[in-house]
Amino acid sequence: MNEVLDPVPPLRAGVRLVPTPDGAGSALSDEVLGRRVKLDAAGASLAAALDREQPLAELAARVAGDEGRVRDAVAAFARLFLLATPRAGALAADAERAAAAAEGSRDDVPIVVRGDARFTCTMCGSCCGGHNVPVFDDVLEGLADKIPALEAATRTRKGLFVTLGKRPGAAGQVYCQLTHGSCVFLDDDARCRIHGQWGAEAKPSACRIFPYELVATPDGVAISIQRECRGFVEARAGKRLADDLPNLREVLRLVPELPRVRRVIETTAGRVVTWAEYQALEDRLHDLVDAGDGDHAALFSGLRAEVLGDAAPDGAAGTDLASLRDDLDGIAGGLLSAIGQLKGMMPPPTGETLIRGEALDHFALGLAHLRDELPRVMHPLRRPDLVSLLKDHLHHHLMGKGLAIARTVRVGLGHMAFQWALSLAFAVARAREVKRRHLVAQDVMDGLVMTSFMMRHDAFDGPVLARFDEPIASLFVDRWPALVAHARELPEPDTRLEMVKF
Ligand code: SF4
Repeated sequence: MNEVLDPVPPLRAGVRLVPTPDGAGSALSDEVLGRRVKLDAAGASLAAALDREQPLAELAARVAGDEGRVRDAVAAFARLFLLATPRAGALAADAERAAAAAEGSRDDVPIVVRGDARFTCTMCGSCCGGHNVPVFDDVLEGLADKIPALEAATRTRKGLFVTLGKRPGAAGQVYCQLTHGSCVFLDDDARCRIHGQWGAEAKPSACRIFPYELVATPDGVAISIQRECRGFVEARAGKRLADDLPNLREVLRLVPELPRVRRVIETTAGRVVTWAEYQALEDRLHDLVDAGDGDHAALFSGLRAEVLGDAAPDGAAGTDLASLRDDLDGIAGGLLSAIGQLKGMMPPPTGETLIRGEALDHFALGLAHLRDELPRVMHPLRRPDLVSLLKDHLHHHLMGKGLAIARTVRVGLGHMAFQWALSLAFAVARAREVKRRHLVAQDVMDGLVMTSFMMRHDAFDGPVLARFDEPIASLFVDRWPALVAHARELPEPDTRLEMVKF
């Protein structure tokens, strides 16, 4: 049922009627909310007449249209927030504030952190491996006279830097060299040689920004800790971020481009919320996380009910087990096949080059065991360190605006639950390989590191994972209670005789 807008508001400020790129038609361009709506001739005539507030009958007369049809078209414009309604105005104001936080001065934009978020780098050195660090001209210039000393200290025979992607007319990107998967500058005490001798300012900016995660929001720049920090289990007990604001401001100044929350946030498809409404929802999710205990499956059920706005249904009732199994296999099988393709594209090692792809294998290990390990994955966490790790992980994920960046909040929650389940499946499978049953926090942290790395990777997130957004949300949000209730029935029955020889 369309809401009747009478009098009809004009187009919202900033919404403009423009020609389409081919010049053959018209469109409404909404740069604030980042939309462009193509119009037919009747729509263009209506848009041109929306120059002031006016009674519906007057507008219909001006465009010589049937009043019912004009009312429907006006309602369609309103649903797209193109008209100057109070709700559209609130959304536009949110988007403008987020844009100001992203693009304005880094010196005075508010920094938003959670009061209980903590971090102190343990200097474990783990983040100095697993990726190639890009280096830009300012750092290279600063190190120019230090290269001989660094080459001697590192004893590298492959040089300190490598330039990749060089094409005719293009300079290419410089990266730090790796040795055994770790940065060439890492010393035997897991310290950065550049930092140790010439201070943090001499290091590449990527090293100085990590592991902070910064997102522009209407309230300012939200800062949290990425779970690619392998030392997070200990580092999360460090200094309160709220007591480290001068350092965070320095980090903020280093970030070349800030990601920002979606301009139009939908909890589920079509259910748009203002930033204040989203923030209230996120606060309730934080409260649920705080109130959670070892029953992590129940905690995710609570988050699900809050996001979908319905109580968790009885998961055991009326569930089609075959469809649960098929859909779980569809997600795991589809992602495993994509991983296989990515691996197939990697050149084999040669005498000159070693391209590493361990994260693909780790992600695949979790996927391959997800269904069969589901009973353990869904079983309540017994150890307090695992419970507190889960809580800190979820708080930082929410504070990193994981749900406000996703296509919808529901899809973001699906990724959150899927990532947690996959991390546990990986941890269980890896512990089994060395005949260990119990999990400690670092086992699960390794899973979170690996899944975070893959789920944020440019070559995996958009091109691959996005194709599974809907199946993941359907299974890990909509049908989460059923997944929990039937976790023991979903693995493949194993009737083999098992014996251990080695
Ligand atoms: S992995 Fe985390 S704790 Fe370890 S050195 Fe890097 S930032 Fe510090």
